[in-house]
Amino acid sequence: MDDEWICGRLGEDEPWVLGAVNPPVFENSLFTFETAEELGAAVKDEDERYVYWRGTNPTVDLAQRKLAALERGERAKCFGSGMGAISATISSLVSAGDHVLVLGAVYGPTTQFLRYLEKFGVSHTHVDDLAAGDSAIRPSTRILYFESPSYMAYQVVDIAEVTAWARERGLLTVMDNTWSTPLFQKPLTMGVDLVVHSLSKYVGGHSDLVGGVVVGPSRLVRPLALQEYQLYGAAMSPHDAAKVIKGLRTLPVRMAAHQERGLAVAAFLEGHPAVREVNHPGLPSHPGHAIALRQMSGFSSLFSLVLDTESREQVGRFINQLRQFRIGVSWGGFESLVNAPALTTEESVRVTMGIPVGLVRLSVGLEPADALIKDLGLALEGMSA
Ligand code: PLP
Repeated sequence: MDDEWICGRLGEDEPWVLGAVNPPVFENSLFTFETAEELGAAVKDEDERYVYWRGTNPTVDLAQRKLAALERGERAKCFGSGMGAISATISSLVSAGDHVLVLGAVYGPTTQFLRYLEKFGVSHTHVDDLAAGDSAIRPSTRILYFESPSYMAYQVVDIAEVTAWARERGLLTVMDNTWSTPLFQKPLTMGVDLVVHSLSKYVGGHSDLVGGVVVGPSRLVRPLALQEYQLYGAAMSPHDAAKVIKGLRTLPVRMAAHQERGLAVAAFLEGHPAVREVNHPGLPSHPGHAIALRQMSGFSSLFSLVLDTESREQVGRFINQLRQFRIGVSWGGFESLVNAPALTTEESVRVTMGIPVGLVRLSVGLEPADALIKDLGLALEGMSA
């Protein structure tokens, strides 16, 4: 099955779709049955049968089947947000007394969630590499959690090496693959046990959706679909599933454009005297570029640069002069976005995460690259004026 077909057609020629060019959105909160016994049987098998939308819904199911196929996984479960997927997935794998290893920089609220779990007796340790992992591992360690490329710094993790290391030590691996989308990187084929995504980024693509998904083998996804999905209640709505399905239709062409524009902008910034560093794994100068080429088939357009300054005022002046980039959180949409942790993140968090004052994150959208480059050039010149 090729990815373009999965994105555009998989599951859409079934009788329930009635040939509709966009599959129906099942807006009903519940399904009814001829007899109480039939309802009883459905309730017992609620991840396969349709009973109530907090558990299952046919439109959401279709999005799940496409995402599972794209990630080469057996099963997917969509959530009402990426954090819904991440918190349910971690919760499903740990019990009181367990320990989680976190490799490299990960999305801030994921760390916050791990801190929250401490009140239930689940601890965690952040490590920068596998050698540190060997020192930090405990008999109670259950999971190795990571992202690649990593959060904000966009360092590349050798996925096959990490999963082999974890398997030898009896750990399950959970990886956030949001940056690459299921098109550009397929971690399950490199030994990762469960992949999570925020669908709010490139998959949705239009900044009109918040959603998440976990993909992996049925033996791991089914239990969390029946427990954490149902009990935490971070259910995906059928309307959002319809947006996921629409987003997937254009994901291959959008990602090709994001890749091209992101690389053009990154290459321009890399050569600019006011820029100390550009963290984009698609640049040949990036320390993880060779590994990235081995395990990824493309590059998205979220990356960071470090301005050659220690002054918050200059960072602010740079950002506020940009006209093509809008200032905001999130990323992966049609619109170019800019954000600077030194101006928006609590200072202690920035220092703990080792983020330089001059770090600026760009999400390159679908505007023409030359317009974005011109805009950045003017703002870099105006920064120290
Ligand atoms: N993972 C990464 C890498 C993210 O950047 C985000 C959100 O910014 C999330 C997960 C969480 O996704 P959501 O905002 O859909 O809960």
